[in-house]
Amino acid sequence: MRQELATATRILGRHEMIGMFGHVSLLTDDPQRYLICPGAGQRKDRCRPTDIIELGLDDEFRFGLPLELYMHAATHRAKPHIKSLVHVHSPNLTALAAMDEPPSELLMIHAGFWPERIPLWERPDLVRDHDSGRELVETMGDHAIALMRWHGAVIVGETLREAVFRTLLAERHAGIVLTSLAHGRPLKPAAASRPDLYARMLPASTHDLNWRYESSFVELED
Ligand SMILES: [Zn+2]
Repeated sequence: MRQELATATRILGRHEMIGMFGHVSLLTDDPQRYLICPGAGQRKDRCRPTDIIELGLDDEFRFGLPLELYMHAATHRAKPHIKSLVHVHSPNLTALAAMDEPPSELLMIHAGFWPERIPLWERPDLVRDHDSGRELVETMGDHAIALMRWHGAVIVGETLREAVFRTLLAERHAGIVLTSLAHGRPLKPAAASRPDLYARMLPASTHDLNWRYESSFVELED
C-alpha cells in the first residue's frame, strides 16, 4: 500500500496537482489507520514508499505531516468505503472556487463524476482541526468532489486509482469550463445522465489503464 501511495504521490506531483501544497491519503485494512504522503517540505515527485506516513484517525498535526491532515481523518472516519482523498490547490479548480456560484455544466464526457451542483466549503481557511475536517466532509456529502473557497478542492475515490484519475480529470474539466465561459459563445453542456456517463466512460478497468500509463512516467531510478 505504501508503494501504491508513493506512486500516486509522484503521479500527482508530476501533474503539479500536489507539491508545496496538497496531499493524498489511503485507508489501510485497519479502518482506524490511514497512510498519507509527506507534508509541505518534501518533493512529491520523488516520493518513495519509505516517505509515506501512517497515522491514526485521532492523530494531530506535527512537523513533517501535512497541516491539513484533518480532512483525511474526517473522511476516513465518516466514510470507510472511501479509500482515498486528494486535496489540491490547483489553479483551475481554485479559480472555480473563487466564483460566487461555480458553474456545474458538464463539458467533457470523462467528467461524469462532476456533481449537478458542486459543493463549496465556504470557510476561507486551512483545515486545521478535527471539527473543520468534519464540516468539510459534511459539505461534500456523497459527491466525488467539493470546492474550497479561494483555496482549492478535495476529490475522493473508492479506490486510490479512482481518486487519482478523478483528480487529473477534475482539473482538466475545470480548465475547460473556464475556457468555455471566457469565449462568450453559447455552450452545449452534456445532457446525458452523469452516473450513466461515468459508468460508461470510467469503469475500473480505465482506472487501471490510466494507472499503468501514468506510472510509466514516474518510475524511480533505483
Ligand atoms: Zn489546502
